[in-house]
Amino acid sequence: MNKTKRTAIFERLRQANPTPTTELRYSSAFELLIAVILSAQATDKGVNKATERLFAVANTPAAILALGEDGLKTQIRTIGLFNAKAKNIIATCRKLVDEHGGEVPRERAALEALPGVGRKTANVVLNTAFGEPTIAVDTHIFRVANRTGLAPGKTPLAVEQGLLRLVPAPFLQDAHHWLILHGRYLCKARKPNCPHCPISDLCEYRQKTPADPKTIPEQMPQSVPELNKKAIDR
Ligand code: SF4
Repeated sequence: MNKTKRTAIFERLRQANPTPTTELRYSSAFELLIAVILSAQATDKGVNKATERLFAVANTPAAILALGEDGLKTQIRTIGLFNAKAKNIIATCRKLVDEHGGEVPRERAALEALPGVGRKTANVVLNTAFGEPTIAVDTHIFRVANRTGLAPGKTPLAVEQGLLRLVPAPFLQDAHHWLILHGRYLCKARKPNCPHCPISDLCEYRQKTPADPKTIPEQMPQSVPELNKKAIDR
């Protein structure tokens, strides 16, 4: 895909949604960090329900430590893998208090040193809480980047590096959210909604969903593999 096409894709995504952001609800870098840790293999909707309860009683590292692991589990028990997530969140809060004065660090290495925080979570926090032009490749971005031809790659890291190199500078800050939302609501894994896609004429996917619903197969053939969700969970 050439630069003119890439630019046109982002111009259209921007036109459709000029100020994209995460669907996770948060009011501080710390709340965002906790919400992203909780979002592994869970929906944003489910996380928002749990964090609404949790942040009402504890929304700082010290307050969550005071709640204790069992108290935290009670607040987040509706979310998958809540036992492991509670353990990680308590350890992360302890590290934030002991090593960072209770604040979320702005450096990638320090973020990735927190329990339960991998490259993807660090990228989300750096981008959304601190305004850094990073791209967190989740299952949606991985699929969209490969299907469209924006930045094909076999691993999340390859796609991330491709996007960082190829997304035109004016769009880099928001590319992460535009691509996630596009993958979540239009360019879905099983049946991409190509007939209603604003970038259909620019996308290089060869097996676009046809316009006539009667001809849409149950399972679209995939020219790119779906990535194992666990591989890009954190
Ligand atoms: S045309 Fe289809 S495959 Fe291409 S980005 Fe749009 S929804 Fe996805």
